[in-house]
Amino acid sequence: MAMYDVIIKNGTIVTADSTLQGDIAIQDGKITKVVTDKPLENDAAKLIDAEGLHVLPGLIDPHVHFNEPGRTEWEGLETGSKSLAAGGAATFFDMPLNSTPPVIDKDNLNAKKELAAEKSVVNARFWGGLVPGNVDKLKDMHDRGVIGFKAFMPPSGIEDFDNADDETIFKGMQEIASLGSRLAVHAESPVICEQLAKEKQRQGKTSARDFAESRPIISEIDAVKHLISYAEATGCKLHIVHASSRKVVNIVNDAQQRGVDVTVETCPHYLALTVKDLEEQGGIAKCMPPLRDNREVEDLWNAVLRGDINVIGSDHSPAPADMKQITDNYFEGWGGISGAQSTLNILLTEGYFKRGLTLQQLVQLASENPAKLFGLTSKGTIAAGFDADITLVDLNESFELQKEDLFYRHQHSPYVGKTYQGAVKKTIVNGAIVFDNGDITAD
Ligand SMILES: [Zn+2]
Repeated sequence: MAMYDVIIKNGTIVTADSTLQGDIAIQDGKITKVVTDKPLENDAAKLIDAEGLHVLPGLIDPHVHFNEPGRTEWEGLETGSKSLAAGGAATFFDMPLNSTPPVIDKDNLNAKKELAAEKSVVNARFWGGLVPGNVDKLKDMHDRGVIGFKAFMPPSGIEDFDNADDETIFKGMQEIASLGSRLAVHAESPVICEQLAKEKQRQGKTSARDFAESRPIISEIDAVKHLISYAEATGCKLHIVHASSRKVVNIVNDAQQRGVDVTVETCPHYLALTVKDLEEQGGIAKCMPPLRDNREVEDLWNAVLRGDINVIGSDHSPAPADMKQITDNYFEGWGGISGAQSTLNILLTEGYFKRGLTLQQLVQLASENPAKLFGLTSKGTIAAGFDADITLVDLNESFELQKEDLFYRHQHSPYVGKTYQGAVKKTIVNGAIVFDNGDITAD
């Protein structure tokens, strides 16, 4: 009998601290050895030749909407997780909406957990929802392992997931602080967004740019400042999801300097697309907060390069094609981008190749930081004793993304037709190869 289940030979192993040539041995889903001074003996049931490839810890996507149960016609745990595997991710954190029922109590959480155990090809973790009236349900969800809680300041767009008023957020934060957990918030001012949207529509201004202008950066800044003041008052750990601008990141960084435990996520679409893409591609590129202009994209990249952003989440929020079709009124149509499969491609192409993001920084952002921040102590790096969640990438290969390549339930994405440098060759989850050269191989 072979000594190991899998050996990955002679790859360039990247962690947040180092880039080294070496071999990795895997047994029972765990990394048992990482050897960089001499080759491992070929004593494994499966040998993977990684010569010429980069070997990264599997990505952790802290922000997806897979919509199961209840809204699987939009996406699902199987299709969503397959798309992540194809994109080099080994773990996701699913948002409490837009599944129906949403995860706002323990029973709904249990139901989703069972479905994920059956259907997901990668590791699944869950956010619990904070909505008006459920503060007393948070502890039960915490006890059952949610990685944190999520609330909306503006309306979520989903009828069964109400946005949280100030009282809910404040009381929720007191409770979440006592649990030692973290509250993630969709931070846009409901007042500013609602007023501007009404004003624009009253004037018949409904273009892509009008829509974007109705949700300005100041709306995010206002909301984030408000939330930080609550975090300081309650001692609750706070997480700002999908920051679209460096100006928002700055507010978070200032609070961090004062010792407030607040963290910030941005998304690939704010680093790769602008409001021009919304104008040209229509609803496919509609999201909230909206895409910004070129200058914001570059400023946001600077924040990434300086290490001022904690995590990158795809905010994969898909919908059927007919809900993404916008003819003339950009206030209509679903706001959410299908992107879970492309995060690594964008970080490599737009970051590593174009702007000097190092592979170590990439791994830190996309694997190590989310693992550390959300208490996944056996994930986020490649080292003995850690889970064997590993992605093999060929940096020399480039490709044009075709819609047929997408594993989503609905094969559309604003990234279709774009060329990427760096292709995912294999994704290994808990020691098993789940994606191999274009095919899902999980059973
Ligand atoms: Zn989201």
